[in-house]
Amino acid sequence: MYQTFKKVALTVVPRKTLFKNEVFIRSLFAFHLKGKNHRCSLCKKNLKKFIKIPDGDILCPFCGSRSRTRRLYNFLLENNLLQGKVLHFSPSRSLYRIFSKNDDITYYSTDFQDEFIAEYNYNITNIPVKNNSFDLIICYHILEHIEDDKAAMSELSRVLKKGGNCIIQTPFKVGKIYEDVSKTTKAERLKAFGQEDHVRVYSVEGLKERLLQNGFANVEIKNFSKNIFNGFMNETILIAKK
Ligand SMILES: [Zn+2]
Repeated sequence: MYQTFKKVALTVVPRKTLFKNEVFIRSLFAFHLKGKNHRCSLCKKNLKKFIKIPDGDILCPFCGSRSRTRRLYNFLLENNLLQGKVLHFSPSRSLYRIFSKNDDITYYSTDFQDEFIAEYNYNITNIPVKNNSFDLIICYHILEHIEDDKAAMSELSRVLKKGGNCIIQTPFKVGKIYEDVSKTTKAERLKAFGQEDHVRVYSVEGLKERLLQNGFANVEIKNFSKNIFNGFMNETILIAKK
């Protein structure tokens, strides 16, 4: 039902108009999903249910947030990390809407390939800002797309303030990082790394070690468990400091 609704909406309404009016359009669909079984920690709506999508994740019908986005927002609030200058790579629209209206932060949203709504167009391997600029950097599901991820990590560390936090997540596997530069076509990458625009699969420890080798002084691994009421999944995030 949701997938059909989304397909129809994308066919009849231009993409930009759809994004601009997304919350209103979603509310038309989501009205019947108001309830008491769940609560979206991002848009604060009470829900009958979340919407399951083909990759297994569950979306909030009102704001469209994924489970990892709701968790991230919750984590940032609980730890009082939303302050100062914030750099956000390829922001989800649900978070972009909240952060771009938050007067407590100076928000820099960026997307290199123009797939997400963002103000800037930074190349993560060569970020055009001064050293020690940001209090918080959000780098979610980015590094697995970057061929020269070591350059990206050095840049993230360079633009992060001392005492600031760089919050990182990618898909993970157990064992070591799996990467193979000979896989260059979409088909090869899909088969090897699970998505046609991914260039590797990290392990948690492998990513931590690589961050420590490329500019960061400390990396904390945080594991979270599932919470059905709030629609959170089991997941891991890394918090890097310099
Ligand atoms: Zn929501």
